[in-house]
Amino acid sequence: MKRIAVVEKERCNPEGCGGYLCIKKSPLNRMGVEAIVQGPDGKAQINEDLATDALQVVVNVCPFHAIHMVKLPEHLTTRPIHRYGKDQFILYSLPTPTFGKVVGIIGVNGIGKSTAIKILAAALKPNLGDSERTDVDVDELIKLFKGTEMQIFMEKFKKEEIIVSFKPQEVELIQKNAKGKVKELLDKVNETKKLKEVIEVLELTNILDTDINKISGGEMQRVAIAATVLKKANLYIFDEPSSFLDIKQRLKIARFIRDLANEETSVLVIEHDLIVMDYMTDLVNIMYGKEKVYGIVSQLKPAKTGMNAYLEGYLKDDNVRFRDHKIEFDIRSADKEKKKDVRFEWPAMEKKLGNFHLKANAGSIKNQEVIGILGPNGIGKTTFMKLLAGVEEPDSGKLDTTVSISYKPQNLASDSEELVMNVLKEAIQYHTNDIIDPLNLKDLFTRQLKQLSGGELQRVAVAEALGKKADIILLDEPSAYLDTEQRLNISKIIRNVADTTGKAILVVDHDLVFLDYVANRLIVFEGEPAIEGKQIGPVKMEEGMNLLLKEVEITLRRDEQTGRPRINKLDSVMDRKQKDADKYYYS
Ligand code: ADP
Ligand code: SF4
Repeated sequence: MKRIAVVEKERCNPEGCGGYLCIKKSPLNRMGVEAIVQGPDGKAQINEDLATDALQVVVNVCPFHAIHMVKLPEHLTTRPIHRYGKDQFILYSLPTPTFGKVVGIIGVNGIGKSTAIKILAAALKPNLGDSERTDVDVDELIKLFKGTEMQIFMEKFKKEEIIVSFKPQEVELIQKNAKGKVKELLDKVNETKKLKEVIEVLELTNILDTDINKISGGEMQRVAIAATVLKKANLYIFDEPSSFLDIKQRLKIARFIRDLANEETSVLVIEHDLIVMDYMTDLVNIMYGKEKVYGIVSQLKPAKTGMNAYLEGYLKDDNVRFRDHKIEFDIRSADKEKKKDVRFEWPAMEKKLGNFHLKANAGSIKNQEVIGILGPNGIGKTTFMKLLAGVEEPDSGKLDTTVSISYKPQNLASDSEELVMNVLKEAIQYHTNDIIDPLNLKDLFTRQLKQLSGGELQRVAVAEALGKKADIILLDEPSAYLDTEQRLNISKIIRNVADTTGKAILVVDHDLVFLDYVANRLIVFEGEPAIEGKQIGPVKMEEGMNLLLKEVEITLRRDEQTGRPRINKLDSVMDRKQKDADKYYYS
């Protein structure tokens, strides 16, 4: 069985480990075999060909958890498509663009999704696993994919019949590098001449004359999607299009992306919001393997079967179990309201910020309760959280300041050099079993906050907030930057902390699957974004979901096999039945 060795170069810190500890402790190096050497970049480098079982001990020797050594599954007989470097991540096979269809790519963070689509978008030249090769041409790829759908795609690619338009994941980077007003940018890329329609659907009218570097994350996401679809292409690729968007906007862009696919056009999309993914895709490719080490792409599957197989952790056709447990949805009764004592009450409050006016009702939260907060962007959810957290003072209404509050803000950008283990001191002391271990945070202890990826920083921030000694915990958008599996994992941890410690938790989020799992009751915000926000509730889950779903005109049902929430097809029998009964949310 072939073994792969990967050194994560950004984690490797030879000075920090006391000088190449892995080389010193390597049993092979001690016998004179140069299995690990000092690489040209000064970091440790593993010679995979010289590695044997004996080298496995160095994985635990590295204090920064920079070394990974794993065996590849036996069924894997295909050649790699790309390797970033001698001892770096390897990608096997590629997702399959299909004309007339939207293909979703589903998999955990670090499994190679972005790598795969960068190759399809011709933004990364594949080397077939030999990092010294720069001469791989399309004929070699055609040969590699002989007899598959991909062969047809590669042949079209060779004839220059594939024109790609690509929305990358990091819209913040586009924003950093772009200059001028939104309208000027869109005018420049308006090849399809659909500018008017796109502006209307993506609700960009109000920001056309704004400088690109002044717009919010959600607005930048919609501008990036607009720019991608305005380009004339027959392969549209979207890497995480729903990030920073509220539920209404998510459904809108999902419909829009779905409508792009036709006989001459194919669409590929990476997405972590399960409801949005389900709603916009016809087919899915599952990516599995070992994060940061290797990634394998499954065959194409119909969206429903594929997503259920992903949750199951098992690919029947290939007889591969890629996760040792299922991801399960707990089907509880609709009435999830806790019959417990009130833990915290807030008064009716008002707050004016510039042109914006927030009106919050008096309300309360009980012991062990999780209240979900839903509503459009710019409607005052974060302002409400800040009032409760005491970060902002209300203009009217007086809060009980004797209650201790732990608050995770939405914006986590950190240039702090503080070590993760110091930030998590309280959580480590009191919550190793129920927070630190299930969030898999031990590997991050010796890293600085500024070295973490968005998803890692989010996990640390959620653990820090949940682990503090406080009566109330406020979490603003904890699902951002997390993959589907991490979102469901975090929702279970939040639920468990509430149930076992009695703490009351308020969670703002846009991922309905996440909120559906975690919340007992809901607060819904309505009004006009940037002008006026009004709080409704806390109300029962069913009532709050109904309010929201009615406004976006969708109904939800549960998948009979996995229990996951799914959107009913518009005007289907179920959709009409639920709408007639005024039950937009299953119960
Ligand atoms: P995903 O999109 O599924 O989160 P990515 O394709 O971004 O996964 O990354 C897969 C792996 O490849 C990660 O371990 C990442 O660190 C690594 N990787 C990505 N880009 C590079 C690069 N330029 N050099 C070396 N490793 C990289
Ligand atoms: Fe030190 Fe770990 Fe880097 Fe080896 S991999 S040099 S043990 S930091």
